[in-house]
Amino acid sequence: MNTYKAVIGDCISALSKAVIPTKSLDHYCRILMYHAVGTDVPGDIHQLYNMPLKTFRLQIEHLSRLQQSGLICVRDLNAGVETSSGLVITFDDGYRDNFTAAAPILTSYGLPFTIFVPPKLILDGDSRYLSIVTLKELALLPGVTIGGHGYSHRPLTNLDDGALANELRGSRAWLEDIIQKPVVTMSYPHGAVDERVRAFAADAGYEVAASSNFGALNGGCDSLWLPRTDIWAQDGLSRFKSKLAGSWDWMSHFDYGK
Ligand SMILES: [Zn+2]
Repeated sequence: MNTYKAVIGDCISALSKAVIPTKSLDHYCRILMYHAVGTDVPGDIHQLYNMPLKTFRLQIEHLSRLQQSGLICVRDLNAGVETSSGLVITFDDGYRDNFTAAAPILTSYGLPFTIFVPPKLILDGDSRYLSIVTLKELALLPGVTIGGHGYSHRPLTNLDDGALANELRGSRAWLEDIIQKPVVTMSYPHGAVDERVRAFAADAGYEVAASSNFGALNGGCDSLWLPRTDIWAQDGLSRFKSKLAGSWDWMSHFDYGK
């Protein structure tokens, strides 16, 4: 994100914090959205999504402290999460570093997490992404959920009905065959979702689907259109805490150019 936009964002969030009471962390659920931890992300023009390992470690240490203090419960992404309290950790796209860098930190703290994987990025053999072998190993780790992310990572709203059904059903079937576990969660590639895509996701057997709309779950959310809180590479601990407290939820009103 351009520096001036980040500065403006910090100012609005400070103002938001001053006029809107900070939300109690144990009264609602928030789904964090990460991408890579140490790998350049294609098309990331604002350089938001390659999280430095050191920053990631500080954020996860903070979450672990909150959990140990009883202030939050880090939970799985599953049916019912939209009405529960807690915090969910998710990653989009299936970067290899999710296995080599993020997973060791998360599992060392016993924190569950979900990775949304588009099969085509795995099958293309690009070393930035998980391989079939590492995907299988990741799926066997305690607390790990593998979810769908379309088959070929295309924006689903652009597809005709046949292609849309193939993307959603094909990715689910492929993942279930590889990891030998049910796949009932997904996130929409590029955050592209509308009523038709949502209906096709339900028809394909998904029970929970995350969008890229900014925000927290308020107890009345559509389980197939859940908002997430976008965590950026530049989010030091101060801004991370501010996002957890809801001081950036004003962004739910804006499309800030993901
Ligand atoms: Zn994606």
